[in-house]
Amino acid sequence: MSCLAKAAVVVPAAGSGSRVGGPVNKLLRPLAGEPLLVHTLRAVAALSPAQTVLVCRDDERDAMTSVAGQAGCPITFAPGGATRQASVAKGLREVRAELELVAVHDGARPLVTPELFLAALASAHEHGSGVVAVPVADTLKTVADGHVVGTVDRGTTWAMQTPQAFRTSWLAEAVRFAAVTGFEATDEAGLVEHLGREVRVVRGSPRNMKVTRNEDFAVAAALLEGGGMQTSRIGYGYDVHRLVPGRELWLGGVKIDSPVGLLGHSDADALLHAICDALLGAIGAGDIGRHFPDSDPAYEGVASLRLLEATHRLVAEAGYRVLNLDATVIAERPRLAPYVERMREVIAAAIAVTPQQVSIKATTHEGLDDLGAGQGIAAHAVAALTNG
Ligand code: MG
Repeated sequence: MSCLAKAAVVVPAAGSGSRVGGPVNKLLRPLAGEPLLVHTLRAVAALSPAQTVLVCRDDERDAMTSVAGQAGCPITFAPGGATRQASVAKGLREVRAELELVAVHDGARPLVTPELFLAALASAHEHGSGVVAVPVADTLKTVADGHVVGTVDRGTTWAMQTPQAFRTSWLAEAVRFAAVTGFEATDEAGLVEHLGREVRVVRGSPRNMKVTRNEDFAVAAALLEGGGMQTSRIGYGYDVHRLVPGRELWLGGVKIDSPVGLLGHSDADALLHAICDALLGAIGAGDIGRHFPDSDPAYEGVASLRLLEATHRLVAEAGYRVLNLDATVIAERPRLAPYVERMREVIAAAIAVTPQQVSIKATTHEGLDDLGAGQGIAAHAVAALTNG
């Protein structure tokens, strides 16, 4: 969108967070594993406006620099003021003169999306203003001395959120006018209304909550972590290789004492191949042949443990971790029981779990068919993954 090239985002982050309590600015408190403000600035970074101005206290500038770095969000600093209105005024002073649009966004709304910014800025581009708001769901009453004294018409009542976007000249004029008239507003829309300009509303989302009280942190964290919708996935893998003389026998990443070994392009570790396929299957990423093709000389003679590690990286990149693995090796000989504990340790280390999460069982084929005749070794594996 063309309006982004002339848009600045101003984030007031100088508040003391007194409603949350404690000496630490609530924007620096951890939320879902990272400082709250990292989440907010990450959404701004994804938007990529021409300039982002972060308004903060001087003594918190180092912490804020690190937070902005963590979010990948380049920023210009502005010093904080005594009130939100004063902070926004100072932030506006740092906005580059050529930027025609400005969106002010609460640092304490970490669930904002680039789409909400775009909607507000597009409205400001076209109409001069665009403030994000949602219709209220609760019935609102005016209350005095513990008594209801009136009912607010819910049909026309909306709760204001941020971002609130304006032509930069409008907001700058509104800030000056408020200073001259001694007017204090709780949001930027209030300042522009006071100036007598029309403030247009852009429909927001109830998810775009403001983290104000201690209990809001848990709600915001649940929303950030996928609305609490943890998912599990399972995958299945199977592999078989032929046994031939003159090859080492590798199974489960462990060298087995044997006069014969499995034939294949890599070390032909059928157990690890079955496990790789189970992991890839669980994330819907095809099979081992697709990621590490036989035809690629890079994989000739490669230890299959390297393939398992690479497969685990794909699992992690997909946002999952292994809950447990269960595998069965079908081998007429040699006897594998003495090697099973070592296999569990080696496999567990490659996929970042404990050996207790890896089960390896060995069985024979009771003399039946080619496997029973000892012509090859096969392996089955299932893997359970979670994104929680
Ligand atoms: Mg194989």
